[in-house]
Amino acid sequence: MNERGLLVRLSVIGCGYLGAVHAAAMASLGHEVVGIDVDEAKIADLAAGRAPFYEPGLDELLRDQVGRGALRFSTDPAAAADATVHFVAVGTPQSPDGRAADLRYVDAAVDSLLPILKSGDVVVGKSTVPVGTAAAIAARIAEHGSGARLAWNPEFLREGFAVQDTVGPDRIVYGVARAGDELDEAAAAVLDEVYAVPLAAGTPRIVTDFATAELVKVAANAFLATKISFINAMAEIAEVAGADVTQLADAIGHDARIGRRFLNAGVGFGGGCLPKDIRAFSARAEELGRGESVAFLRQVDEINLRQRQRVVDMAVASFGGSVVGRRIAILGLAFKPDSDDVRDSPALDVAVQLNGLGADVVATDPHAIANARGRHPQLRYEADTTAALAGAESVLLLTEWREYRELDPVATAALVADRHVIDGRNVLDRARWRAAGWRVVAHGRA
Ligand code: NAD
Repeated sequence: MNERGLLVRLSVIGCGYLGAVHAAAMASLGHEVVGIDVDEAKIADLAAGRAPFYEPGLDELLRDQVGRGALRFSTDPAAAADATVHFVAVGTPQSPDGRAADLRYVDAAVDSLLPILKSGDVVVGKSTVPVGTAAAIAARIAEHGSGARLAWNPEFLREGFAVQDTVGPDRIVYGVARAGDELDEAAAAVLDEVYAVPLAAGTPRIVTDFATAELVKVAANAFLATKISFINAMAEIAEVAGADVTQLADAIGHDARIGRRFLNAGVGFGGGCLPKDIRAFSARAEELGRGESVAFLRQVDEINLRQRQRVVDMAVASFGGSVVGRRIAILGLAFKPDSDDVRDSPALDVAVQLNGLGADVVATDPHAIANARGRHPQLRYEADTTAALAGAESVLLLTEWREYRELDPVATAALVADRHVIDGRNVLDRARWRAAGWRVVAHGRA
């Protein structure tokens, strides 16, 4: 414990959706934290105790922790010099020219740390990386001669629940260096101090080698993506067979081995993780000569992308083959509710495609309009749901925000020009909507 009663001095390099939450959450667990990012505007917001993106609970957490002096932010990597544990939380997006992960930000973050590392420091990777990355970084750190060590500590937070997932994760995984049969227990002991609060609350902890820790993360995302594409494949069959995929999901979901979660047929997954992680995983498996082991991930990706096209096709078909000039209201732009993240968002993709086909698209979202406009300024946005719905000839519900799930079909009918809705998330009560005169179209339901 330091002179101010704070436990461990931590730095967090990269303050995006993962890093900003991690920095604030670690401060709330009693540590002294400095967050570093190259983005000056982001750091200015964070230093003022404001979240630079929408994540429930983050604003309050930042305000409290910055206010009590446990959390500060800087664009200068030298500000991390006092810290003894350095989390690397920079982005690992898809490469511009292929499916592999682009590791340039991770490399730059490690470069910025090398000059300030001291003996006993632990660099802790949180970014999602291809298996083999940690071993290479550990070799670079060792070569530099500071005596610092490396651990890999994959992150499983869900955007929309990021604060609670970080303060109280469902499991903690440490990948540490292995020499023969010996794991680097000293690095694990440092992480035990960092995670003392969740560990004391009984959070399961798995200590393993670098490769296993790296694979745990991509395997988890590959499994979740596969589950979603599985139910969407069933939806495609259900449609032609005259079956109902939501009842099918309920019925198979009662089997505890299967489980009902992540079995909602619809427009599919997106975001800054699942799509690029399954692509990077298959690219890395191919490099390792085991491409065939995860060849199914290509199909998982294809099935997923096909769902966006299917919504576009449903809309076109509903207008008899052309959407030119037709007023379409798009409800939702974020890749999931309770987030403003539009990276690889199915909703935004569908809005852009329909706009490109000549439809008169008006898109709305409770929090993601600014991000969507930044990427697609050509779209028409309307912050107010009622205004977005006014005069619509078709309504597409593409992100299942609570306010859209709870729309009243009778009141909504009074706003639109035609009662036609495509429920791209299978969340509306079809009987109620039909009773109010709506034609309801959805994935996997005859
Ligand atoms: P992000 O793009 O929101 O944040 C990355 C941040 O790193 C940006 O603010 C960027 O400015 C900063 N950065 C880039 N280079 C830097 C450098 N050299 N020094 C300091 N800062 C630098 O990305 P994210 O969603 O937070 O994801 C970060 C990593 O975490 C990725 O590997 C991702 O796969 C993984 N991850 C994300 C989530 C999630 O839900 N977002 C969950 C689990 C894992």
